[in-house]
Amino acid sequence: MASQAARPGIPDLFTQPPPIRDPLVTETTDLQDATLERCLPFLKGIHNSQSGPFNACGVPALQRDDHVAFAYDSLEDYPASFVILDASRPWMAYWGLTSLFLMGEDPTRFRERLFNTLRPAQNPTGGFGGGHGQISHLAGSYAAVLSLAIVGGEDAFELIDRQAMWQWLGRLKQADGGFRVCEGGEKDVRGGYCVMAIISLLDLPLELPADSEARKAGLENLTDGLAQYMSRCQTYEGGISGSPGVEAHGAYAYCALACLALLGSPEEIIPRHMDVPMLVSWLSARQYGPEGGFSGRTNKLVDGCYSHWVGGCWPILQSALDGKPQSNGPPATTVGHLFSREGLSRYILGCCQSNNGGLRDKPGKHPDSYHTCYVLAGLSAMQHYHYRTDSSPTSSKMFSSAFSWRSSPIREGNVYEKSDRLEPIHPLFGVPYPSADAMRLWCEARPITP
Ligand SMILES: [Zn+2]
Repeated sequence: MASQAARPGIPDLFTQPPPIRDPLVTETTDLQDATLERCLPFLKGIHNSQSGPFNACGVPALQRDDHVAFAYDSLEDYPASFVILDASRPWMAYWGLTSLFLMGEDPTRFRERLFNTLRPAQNPTGGFGGGHGQISHLAGSYAAVLSLAIVGGEDAFELIDRQAMWQWLGRLKQADGGFRVCEGGEKDVRGGYCVMAIISLLDLPLELPADSEARKAGLENLTDGLAQYMSRCQTYEGGISGSPGVEAHGAYAYCALACLALLGSPEEIIPRHMDVPMLVSWLSARQYGPEGGFSGRTNKLVDGCYSHWVGGCWPILQSALDGKPQSNGPPATTVGHLFSREGLSRYILGCCQSNNGGLRDKPGKHPDSYHTCYVLAGLSAMQHYHYRTDSSPTSSKMFSSAFSWRSSPIREGNVYEKSDRLEPIHPLFGVPYPSADAMRLWCEARPITP
């Protein structure tokens, strides 16, 4: 099937194996070849499972109705074999709600059900566990706070015990500036990003609580040493690892960059703590041809979820390179597109759509809630231009940059149909723009005293 001609409108770049090959054959190159063979019929638009319709660029339409049905279904009951997901309840909510919002559905209809899921998962000692009776974890707490931001409203914001959350974050802070993901747990860049997203959305005090162990090391604030910790995670390749000294990875790169962009203005803080040319080089190497999708690490395969983790790095870096924000509008000159939007569109719409609804890692894989959310988030990030302005709804100087982002749809050079455009989400928080502002402003009006 791979040797069949492609549909009209598809450049050879997206239908032919790369012209230059490393002659060394390894298990990795064999896997890459097999993946390419599997993707090619989808990229050419000739796989018998693709239902179309195809546009003049040879790109299939987004099967929106099927994906909406899949996202609604993902928020319903699960059979017993899914018991492993019992520790991911806030995530299941976040992925489903975000997918629905991206596709133009109203996620607020799940408010009461979300409250019923999250109330028992919150611990009186601060933070949310993955479910009832589980210890608090930063990943689950991040997903819980974001989900509550998405459904919005006073009763959603009031549900969070912000005082206890702040005390708990103080117990996770480490002497080297990083954060453990749970008490006694591992320390990595996810922790730092989740903490900064939680602090900025909930307007928590920056001071460390009096009983924080990190105070004994001379630290005073939750943010102390955090940017330096992120800096130590940039590797010899130019990418960013989960913790100092290990392999660079796309999802950690997003966490580190988003964390820095929450701590300060991207054009100042990112060049101060990262080697930007090396980072751009490593991120660029994550996009493969002819697949067009991103891989998470060197010598790994394309995977749809990196459309968000790697794709989400680009607006942040673009903003850093664009420099100081302008008054209430996009910058007059911009560094422009740093990756192939066409390639990513073709990979997502051609290779990641499961024909019964839901989005997936790659052809041959089953769709799931996680991939549906992050493939759609990547498609949305690719369809919109995200930039900062010099006005921000928050009265906090510290977070004025984080809340100054705006977006406008990209209208030039698209290979997808207008009807396939998704809603934009905030590039640092992963929630609708108004949801982030509303949560922050509600909390700002109800300050917590340290
Ligand atoms: Zn994946």
